[in-house]
Amino acid sequence: MKPFTYVRPADARAAIAAAGASGASFLAGGTTLIDLMRLEVMTPSAVVDVGRLPMAAIERHGDGVRIGAMARNSDVATDALVVERYPLLAQALLAGASQQVRNMATVGGNLMQRTRCPYFRDLGVPCNKRAPGSGCSALDGFARSHAILGTSPSCIATHPSDMCVALAALDAVIHTRHAGRDRAIPFAEFHTLPGDHPEVENVLEQGELITHVELPASPFAAHSHYVKVRDRAAFAFALASAAVGLDVVAGRIRAARVALGGVATRPWRSPEAEQALIGQPPGRASFERAAAVALVDPKPRRDNAFKVALARRTIVRALELAWGQS
Ligand SMILES: Cc1cc2nc3c(=O)[nH]c(=O)nc-3n(C[C@H](O)[C@H](O)[C@H](O)COP(=O)(O)OP(=O)(O)OC[C@H]3O[C@@H](n4cnc5c(N)ncnc54)[C@H](O)[C@@H]3O)c2cc1C
Ligand code: SF4
Repeated sequence: MKPFTYVRPADARAAIAAAGASGASFLAGGTTLIDLMRLEVMTPSAVVDVGRLPMAAIERHGDGVRIGAMARNSDVATDALVVERYPLLAQALLAGASQQVRNMATVGGNLMQRTRCPYFRDLGVPCNKRAPGSGCSALDGFARSHAILGTSPSCIATHPSDMCVALAALDAVIHTRHAGRDRAIPFAEFHTLPGDHPEVENVLEQGELITHVELPASPFAAHSHYVKVRDRAAFAFALASAAVGLDVVAGRIRAARVALGGVATRPWRSPEAEQALIGQPPGRASFERAAAVALVDPKPRRDNAFKVALARRTIVRALELAWGQS
């Protein structure tokens, strides 16, 4: 591990000031950052520990809920308000990692977690995300776990988070604080596509601190579900996942949410699938029609072509479970 300085500021203002310097990085639960520092994939010169700042509350906010950035994934997953109003989020969190990791991992850190592309974690091979301009080893390598949506010639890595797929479906808003100003960032605008700069993964500036996530009132609590397909039943990242919600009135779908994980370079909403569901009666035929249009112009490669069919089946399964069909 490369040498670094460590500070634990007393409040958010001091933390933002300390993290403003180039090369500084916030530390929350450490389950991504320390891991990658040990591998020397991330080499911050200064680590600013925000994990104990009093920003972990989960509370009502109008008709919605506000979740502090330091709230632990395990606390969010079992919080009564979240379970009642946003069971989709609780399910997605519980599908991730292990109880021990969830006890450490925070909401802010989860939003910022890095890809699990094996070449990103291997200093011995080129990777545009880790070393910009060096090349992408996955393009001609083994790309079974990689993305089929949102890719670029520079990077085909998937976004690994389960929680973020649910937050995409729930229209979350991410609140941040930076020197002198607060921002509210709609979830869809937070993570960026790789394009020519896969090393840039979101719209945060140096030293900008995520303070909380706001979930607006949701009509989907009664009919929502998260399905994660992976190689092992536990402790594995998604090959494909779907977070869905249905609002059904008088036998017709009034509104729908369909978000995908494990197949795209960022948490992926499918407005095409959502639109296809509106006005339809809930049931397998409608769900299959929506899944058929959910992936627009996918770019499968030799090793991950199976993800096209898998993603569609995952959507159908999630919609069936959301609607209460077993
Ligand atoms: C073995 C293992 C298995 C896992 N399996 C899964 C899985 O199946 N599904 C899944 O979704 N995830 C999985 N994870 C990832 C895990 O969810 C993340 O590591 C975790 O959520 C990161 O949160 P943290 O608080 O530990 O972040 P940290 O490691 O402390 O920080 C991660 C990044 O976020 C930044 N950061 C942290 N807080 C803030 C903030 N408030 N504002 C701005 N930047 C911030 C840090 O600077 C750092 O760059 C797994 C992790 C491990 C180690
Ligand atoms: S897919 Fe992205 S993260 Fe993986 S090797 Fe290529 S550039 Fe690096």
